[in-house]
Amino acid sequence: MRLVLIELAYLAAGAAFIVALKWLSSPRTARRGNLVGATGMLVAIVATLVHQEIVRYEYILAGLVVGSAIGAVAARRAPMTAMPQMVALFNGVGGGASMLVAWAEYGALRPGQAGGDVLVSVMFTTVVGAVTLSGSVMAFAKLQELVPGRPITYPLQQAGNLALLLASVLLAAFVVARTAAVGPQPAPFYLMLGLALVLGTTFILPIGGADMPVLIALLNAFSGLAAAGAGFVLHNHVLIVSGALVGSSGVLLTQIMCWAMNRSVGNVLFGAFGATAQATGAAAGRVAQPIQADEAAILLAYARRVVIVPGYGLAVSRAQNEVRDLMTALEARGVQVSFAIHPVAGRMPGHMNVLLAEADIPYDRLVDMEDINPELERTDVALVLGANDVVNPAARSDPTSPLYGMPIIDADRAAHVIVIKRSLSPGFAGVDNDLFYMAKTRMFFADGRDALVRILHELKNV
Ligand code: NDP
Repeated sequence: MRLVLIELAYLAAGAAFIVALKWLSSPRTARRGNLVGATGMLVAIVATLVHQEIVRYEYILAGLVVGSAIGAVAARRAPMTAMPQMVALFNGVGGGASMLVAWAEYGALRPGQAGGDVLVSVMFTTVVGAVTLSGSVMAFAKLQELVPGRPITYPLQQAGNLALLLASVLLAAFVVARTAAVGPQPAPFYLMLGLALVLGTTFILPIGGADMPVLIALLNAFSGLAAAGAGFVLHNHVLIVSGALVGSSGVLLTQIMCWAMNRSVGNVLFGAFGATAQATGAAAGRVAQPIQADEAAILLAYARRVVIVPGYGLAVSRAQNEVRDLMTALEARGVQVSFAIHPVAGRMPGHMNVLLAEADIPYDRLVDMEDINPELERTDVALVLGANDVVNPAARSDPTSPLYGMPIIDADRAAHVIVIKRSLSPGFAGVDNDLFYMAKTRMFFADGRDALVRILHELKNV
């Protein structure tokens, strides 16, 4: 009877995860989705805790208290700009937990006890979990700038990684065959585990810091696969279901991000993108025209329609509340204001939606790239706030640009463009932006939040 109840609880938890994923896909229902997912997780944890196979609760309780405390402090302290590295660490912890489960199960095996299917699951979970753990730690270190964020390359790098992968797989096959025939093989098992840990780090080295979010989505998928593998090892259905959900959604997210940058997954993983920066426009003899707060306030106040294009700089300067105040002030004057949301603006998927929603900007003001682009021709002022690559017209017109083919927000098609950023320095792709040098463009050189505070102040006098 107890087992039936546990299985039913697992089923309910699995259903809750699916509903949560559905609701998480829209900002309007995301909070509810988060709550349903967390409740499903609580149900799954309680059901697991009443399982008869648990002999002692002390360690579990200690882990729960310590883990919850670390999680709560980290979630409160981490700034919005540090979310990607935080997610990287969470993936690593997930992969590491699955690896430890598989390792412990392998250590507890008695000769002749395990079938081939369990052994294959153990090896799969160990290797994928180990790659996820060390890869996520390296991704974290790059994003936190503990190691250089630029692509780190060396001769025969990809061949070396391939050799590590092949060696891990061959060792895994060897361990499965020998364990089934004569019993556990600790030395080859540990060697396989070590190689997988090394592979996780060397695989990440050539990937540039700003491509890390794509990689984190992929590592997220890996952590899901490892969890599903651990589910097979433990014969735990909710782990298989949740692992599969995490795995498939991670793969889909990786693909969506690559589409939005018009790059293949292979180019992100093996292309060492961002290794070289190009000359800046200033060096090429072009001049950008600056603007002051009072002129910017006048341009905005007398516009009929303003489109604000937020980017990574919005997150860095934490200007979300000030940009909401600007929207309110302009709307009070009868100006129509919308926000143009590029799918990869910022440094993680949905970065801009999260920031703007945090400042209570109504969802109907956030307009996706495909929908806002036709409107930009009829826009008086495009206010580019800490965005760069996502408004670079070279993506449409210059086949030699690394951004060529990436869908962009057509800010250059508005009647006037104001760009707020601190300098003319390039964005993540390391390339110059023609938009800054166009006759219709004015550059407001300042920190995003400072600039908005000054414009808001001047607006009162207009
Ligand atoms: P970019 O990195 O192209 O540009 C951001 C700009 O913000 C910089 O040029 C910088 O200029 C400016 N900036 C930085 N700090 C501040 C500040 N305090 N105040 C004002 N401006 C500031 O960002 P975008 O959002 O335009 O583009 C995102 C890039 O990231 C794309 O290339 C995308 O492909 C990539 N990417 C995004 C992913 C995602 O999931 N969102 C995933 C992987 C990559 P300055 O230093 O002069 O101030």
